[in-house]
Amino acid sequence: MNSPLPHALHALTPNVHAWLPDGHATWGMANCVAVTGRSAGSGAVLLVDTPYTAGMTRHLKQLLDGLGAQADAGSGNGDGNAPGPGIRTVVNTHGNGDHSYGNGLFPGAEIIATEANGEHLCAEPAPAELAGLIAGSDPGTALGAYMRRHFGRYGDFGGVRAVHPDRTFSGELELDADGVAVRLVEVGPAHTAGDLIVHLPEEGVVCAGDVVFNEDHPVHWAGPLESVHRACLAILDCDPRVVVPGHGPVMTPAEVRRYADYLLDLRTAIHRGHQAGRPLPVLAGELIAADPYPAWGLTERMAILAAVEYRALDGETGRPDLVRLVGMAAEFAHRREAAVDGAAAGSVPAGTGG
Ligand SMILES: [Zn+2]
Repeated sequence: MNSPLPHALHALTPNVHAWLPDGHATWGMANCVAVTGRSAGSGAVLLVDTPYTAGMTRHLKQLLDGLGAQADAGSGNGDGNAPGPGIRTVVNTHGNGDHSYGNGLFPGAEIIATEANGEHLCAEPAPAELAGLIAGSDPGTALGAYMRRHFGRYGDFGGVRAVHPDRTFSGELELDADGVAVRLVEVGPAHTAGDLIVHLPEEGVVCAGDVVFNEDHPVHWAGPLESVHRACLAILDCDPRVVVPGHGPVMTPAEVRRYADYLLDLRTAIHRGHQAGRPLPVLAGELIAADPYPAWGLTERMAILAAVEYRALDGETGRPDLVRLVGMAAEFAHRREAAVDGAAAGSVPAGTGG
């Protein structure tokens, strides 16, 4: 299997470098963005999000060290091998493990997230718990098969642990990353309870975290979709040149606007179904069957979006049950595969209801 990890960092500007793994149609391959300082010889000093596993984080760190060596050589006062002062600040856009499990591999860095992110962290499994969920699930069930397919590649999450933020804020926080202006803007609840976006105003870049997905169907745990839409508008209000989504290739503002419009269309369809009294599994099945973006991966995530929206419409509060929601998506993925297998075998799939 080819490695989905990138061979090089993608330079968005001379001071902003994105690590963009190829995560199409799978879970957990999140983007990270490094900001290099303006001082002579400064390498990467600020990192937006950390990878899912120790191996992925080490891969990213090697590429970051390369940035430091380049800066060292470019400054004319180093031998080109020094790694630079290293990452001093890690910003977590939100608390999902695929954006934060690697935190502990940047010792000495200050970890910053929103205050509200703490609410989501209560629902997020720690690495060992997630490994246990994957290993302990029955591979004969839809959930067990789905967990193995999408999370099995990450092994047992050895070498990472949940390291919570050192510093939290609400609203906005401005930072100076060795001469590069950084604005952290709270936009949650949206994807989770505590999302933030990272705006680099002089660079024309916004790191959107999982408020925005590209080329895969989005999943949002907190919602409702109106809030995610509002968070997308906050991204566009920054008037960026380029937007780095949480997953998938970098985007133009026009692409983010189309994505935001899609969220509102989907919201309308879900609200209509709710008003008509359609049971959630029926509506979710209809949405998936009418998928307007068949090129996007993970269509089954539409079931999670519908469930989260129904939850809000029914006035349910409390923490989302992430495993139950993934289990629901897994059922739809299982049905789709059974239908494909059935069609390939020239037979009619049985029992796709309920
Ligand atoms: Zn993510």
